[in-house]
Amino acid sequence: MTNQFDLVVIGGGPGGYVAAVRGAQLGLNVAVIEQRATLGGTCLNVGCIPSKALLDSTELFHQAKTKFSVHGIDISEPKANWKQMLQRKRDVVATTTKGIDFLMQKNKITRFVGKGTIQSPTTVSVANNGETSLVTGGKILIATGSTVTPISSVPFDGKRIISSDEALELPEIPTTMIIIGGGVIGVEMGSIYARLGTKVTIVETMDGLIPTMDRELGRALEKSLRHLDMVFHFGTKVTSAISGDTVVTVSAEDKRGELVTLTADYVLVAVGRRPNTDGLGLDGLGIPVDSRGRIEINDHYQTSVPSIYAIGDVVRGIMLAHKASEEGVACVEQMVGQKSHVNYDAIPGVVYTWPEVASVGKTEDELKQAGIPFKKGNAPFKASGRARAAEESDGFIKVLAHKETDEILGIHMIGPRVADLIAEAVVAVEYRASAEDIGIMSHPHPTFSETLKEAALAASGNRAIHF
Ligand code: FAD
Ligand code: NAD
Repeated sequence: MTNQFDLVVIGGGPGGYVAAVRGAQLGLNVAVIEQRATLGGTCLNVGCIPSKALLDSTELFHQAKTKFSVHGIDISEPKANWKQMLQRKRDVVATTTKGIDFLMQKNKITRFVGKGTIQSPTTVSVANNGETSLVTGGKILIATGSTVTPISSVPFDGKRIISSDEALELPEIPTTMIIIGGGVIGVEMGSIYARLGTKVTIVETMDGLIPTMDRELGRALEKSLRHLDMVFHFGTKVTSAISGDTVVTVSAEDKRGELVTLTADYVLVAVGRRPNTDGLGLDGLGIPVDSRGRIEINDHYQTSVPSIYAIGDVVRGIMLAHKASEEGVACVEQMVGQKSHVNYDAIPGVVYTWPEVASVGKTEDELKQAGIPFKKGNAPFKASGRARAAEESDGFIKVLAHKETDEILGIHMIGPRVADLIAEAVVAVEYRASAEDIGIMSHPHPTFSETLKEAALAASGNRAIHF
C-alpha cells in the first residue's frame, strides 16, 4: 500500500470524513487517520447519534405514559426496558458508523487506524499498538475534534462522577442524578433520565438554561422541564464533590453565597468541551493555539504552516457537527482553488429536548448589544390547529427582523418538531429574506410550519391572522 497522498485527514468525525469524501469527489487521493476503531468521531460514536437514539426512545416512553390515554389509547402501565434501549442505541450507532466505512470504500479513501502525530509540513506518523507508520500528503487537514472539559473541583472517576460518554451507557436507570451545567448536554441528558423517572437536579452558574441561546428559549424550556420534575439551581457554583461507592455528595455556593449540599447516585459534568490537540505535534511545527486551546487558522482554514489546515471542533466557533462538515467541504474546495465559504450567520443550533428548541441568526440580546434596530413577531403554537390536534401546543416561534428593511436577522423556536422547522428559517437567513417574504408564502395547512408564517406576519407589521 502506498503511503503517499494528496490529502491526509487526521480525525474521522463529521468534519474529517466529510472533507475526505469531498476531496475524493474533487479528484484528490485521500487518506483518513482515525484512532478509534470506528469512524464518525464524537458525533456518531458518543454524541449526536447515540444521544438522539436515547432521546427518541425515552420520549416515546414518556408519551406512552402521559399522552396515550388523552388520545384514547388505553394500555397497561408501560415499563422502561433500559437494556433494550441501550441495545437499540448501540445498533443505531453501529449501522451509522458502518455507513461511513461504506462511504470510504465508495470514494476510494484509504483508512489508517491509530493516533496521528504531525512530523513535518507533509508527514504524519500513525501509532497503533506499538507500531508506527509514516503517511505523507501534499496537504494535511487536522479534524481531531474535542473532548469533555473536566472541572478540577469535581474530577471524573468514570463511575459516579461521569461525562456524557458514560451517561450514554449507564448500567441502570439512576434514582437521582446531579448535572453540572445547564447547557445543551445538560438538558438533553437530563431529559433522557427524567423521562425514565430519575430525579434530575441541574446546577448552572448562569441565571438560566441554554444561556448562549435567545433568553426567551431558556425560560420556556425551564418551564417545560419542570413538568418532568427537574430541579434547577441557577447562579450556583459547585465547589467540591465527594464520591462514595453508591452516591456522590456535591457542595456548591448559591448566588447569595450560601452553601448548597446535594447528594445523588451520579454526577454528570457537562460544562463544555475542549479541543483535541494533545500529541498532535503542533509545538514542533510552531502552530499556535488560542487561549482556549483552539488551533489558530486564517479565513482559508490554514494554520501558520501553509500545507496544514484545521476545521471543526478543534478550531474557533460553535461546536456542532454540521458546522464541522460545512467547514470540511469549504476547506477542501478552497484547497483546489474553488471560492467556497461558510455563512456562519446561518448555522442553526438545535436542542433535542421535548419541546425541541432551535435557533438561527442573531438573538435579541445580540441585536441590542450591536445597536441594530429590530422588530419582533412572536407566534404561539397554541394558535395552531395542527398543534392542538397533536396535543403539542407548548412553545412559540419568534422572528426578529430589521426595523427599517424588514430583513430577517434571527429566528428562535421552541415547540413540536422545530428541529426540522428551523431549516426553513435557515433558507430565509441565507437568502436574506424579509419577514414579509415568509409571511406571504403559502404554508401547508394544517402544519406546525404555519406558526413560522404567523410569526413572520406578526414581525412584518402586526398582520398575524390567528392570534
Ligand atoms: P469529532 O467528531 O470529535 O471527531 C474527531 C475525531 O478525531 C475523533 O474520532 C477522534 O478519535 C479523532 N482523533 C483525535 N485526535 C486524533 C489523532 N491524533 N489521531 C487520530 N485520530 C484522532 N452536534 C450537533 O450538531 N448535533 C447534535 O445533536 C450533537 N449532539 C451531541 C451530543 C453529545 C453528547 C456530544 C458530546 C456532542 C454532540 N454534538 C452535537 C457535537 C458534535 O459531536 C461535534 O460538534 C462534532 O462531532 C465535531 O466534529 P469534528 O469532526 O470536528 O470532531
Ligand atoms: P455548553 O457550552 O452547551 O453548556 C455548558 C454549560 O455549563 C453552560 O451553560 C455553562 O454556563 C455551564 N457551566 C460552565 N462551567 C460551569 C460550572 N463550573 N458549574 C456549573 N455550570 C457551569 O456545553 P455542553 O452542554 O457540555 O456541550 C458541549 C458542546 O457539545 C456544545 O458546544 C454543544 O454545541 C455541543 N452539543 C450539541 C448538541 C446539539 O447540537 N443538540 C448536543 C450536545 C452537545
